[in-house]
Amino acid sequence: MGQLTDRLQQLRGWFALSVGEAFREASAIAEPAGTSPAWAAICARAGVPLCSDDDRAQIRAGQRPTRGAPLMEFQAVIAAIVRRTRQELAGLRNVMNDEADKLHDQIRRAVDGAEDETLRAYRNLVLPKRAGGMFANATAHVATSAFQTAPAATSLTCKSCGAPHLEAGAFDCKYCGNRMV
Ligand SMILES: [Zn+2]
Repeated sequence: MGQLTDRLQQLRGWFALSVGEAFREASAIAEPAGTSPAWAAICARAGVPLCSDDDRAQIRAGQRPTRGAPLMEFQAVIAAIVRRTRQELAGLRNVMNDEADKLHDQIRRAVDGAEDETLRAYRNLVLPKRAGGMFANATAHVATSAFQTAPAATSLTCKSCGAPHLEAGAFDCKYCGNRMV
């Protein structure tokens, strides 16, 4: 009974830590649409090609990020992690094991929501607040430079795996399954 559960736990750990690591390293880059050795290594592992200098210049002009790896790189890395997790999960389809079934469902739910949720969290973190948005008035006087834009307060990350969460009320991390607080 334990072996399947162990393999599911292992997969869940790999998935959660991979998402957490990607989120942490992508957002740790201070240069808008920039890169770092750690981020480049994550992209290489995920089989994601790095943006060209031209791409980066266009992203800076268009999306005006305040920091972080390009959104499209982040998105592609998460998509690769999700794809691999789905494949592994399909191979761990289970027969008559309630504990493993429950775990399998939990992982599948986390995987299903991962791309949407992490991308929204990442956008909140690296893109400037739009003019006319909720904080437009409060920040209008300081938002003259991209570097002065305050980081969004919306990125709550799990202490165990580092995956981002959008709902502040969660007690258990849906990625790694550990306690959030
Ligand atoms: Zn977690």
